[in-house]
Amino acid sequence: RKQVGKVTTSCKSFDELLGGGMETQAIVELYGEFGCGKTQVAHQLAVNIQLPVEMGGLNGSVIIIDTENTFRPERIDQMVKGLPPAPDGRIWETEDFLKNINVARAFNSNHQILLAESAMDLAEKVKDSERPVRLLIVDSVTAHFRAEYVGRGTLADRQQKLNKHLHDLMRFGDLNNALILVTNQVMSKPDTFFGDPTKPVGGHVLGHTSTFRLYLRKSKGEKRIARLVDSPNLPDGEAVFSVTTDGLKD
Ligand code: ADP
Ligand code: MG
Repeated sequence: RKQVGKVTTSCKSFDELLGGGMETQAIVELYGEFGCGKTQVAHQLAVNIQLPVEMGGLNGSVIIIDTENTFRPERIDQMVKGLPPAPDGRIWETEDFLKNINVARAFNSNHQILLAESAMDLAEKVKDSERPVRLLIVDSVTAHFRAEYVGRGTLADRQQKLNKHLHDLMRFGDLNNALILVTNQVMSKPDTFFGDPTKPVGGHVLGHTSTFRLYLRKSKGEKRIARLVDSPNLPDGEAVFSVTTDGLKD
């Protein structure tokens, strides 16, 4: 087992909640209602994973499986401009960050599963380069499954497929010493098929595979609250952070 790496969220309290940042060889699940900031956190991590270790990064590159077409290069640009200065005085260039972000759009759940498999091949190719893949984002991990599998009869089928997909992701994290960051939307209105509206889609399968589960919710203005739920080795707790034009801030 390789040494676990940690990547900063750009927010002190959020990092502390996670025991020093988001860990590699782990699945971090961000869940919460639409607009709570899941995709914002994902963009920030896609930037931060590329930073040098002394700035809380892992000198890595990233693969994003985008299922909702919400990846925005312009947002990466804003976040790069909002970075603290480099210790060696060099100027951050957005292009340098964008070239290390490999985005693949997933059109349905089967395609999403295939993309996770191709991610493995891509990571293998750059494994011994100076920019190994240290982050795999699936935003959202459940949306296609939720949309495609409707009706009670298909529930077991859906869970089985999602389960296999999550195990592929976990394996990717282990083999590449990478952080797996997945998002999962919860419904504000009761959803009779998916059950308890306060519980994330995916139920048990996702619950047991994720190493860290974070429930995000909106607070006043830019403020967001992240709650760590059911961590095996960290105390439950909450962190307050802000989503600003410059990215995530304390
Ligand atoms: P989710 O993925 O959980 O549905 P998002 O991560 O897309 O939600 O969050 C959207 C919210 O993020 C917006 O409502 C806004 O508050 C904030 N946001 C998005 N872009 C910017 C920006 N450029 N500057 C400041 N805040 C932004
Ligand atoms: Mg989103």
